[in-house]
Amino acid sequence: MASKYDMISCMDTTERNMGRTCPKCGGASHQMNSGFTRAGSQRCLCWHCKCKYTPQPKEWAIPEWRRKEALKMMTLGNSGRKVGAYYKMHHTNVYRWAVEGAKKGASKST
Ligand SMILES: [Zn+2]
Repeated sequence: MASKYDMISCMDTTERNMGRTCPKCGGASHQMNSGFTRAGSQRCLCWHCKCKYTPQPKEWAIPEWRRKEALKMMTLGNSGRKVGAYYKMHHTNVYRWAVEGAKKGASKST
């Protein structure tokens, strides 16, 4: 049975290594930092299978209102590339939002 202190120290390390699980082999230990992606997200290297992955893609940190704003810009006739440049991110992100937004819009009547 884990004591209170074990729980705290455990939480401390898991918080710092949140999402650090290898998508390929599922290893949760020995997940190293391995530079950054072009989008500025932290990249990780799995020590077990040597694969590189991104544990926390940056687009998660972008708030909903910003996505909506980007979608609005697109509906006003701006290209995804242009919107992407405006928000300093890759235009494929913008296109994906557009697709996701269209799906949400179809299910929700606004
Ligand atoms: Zn791995």
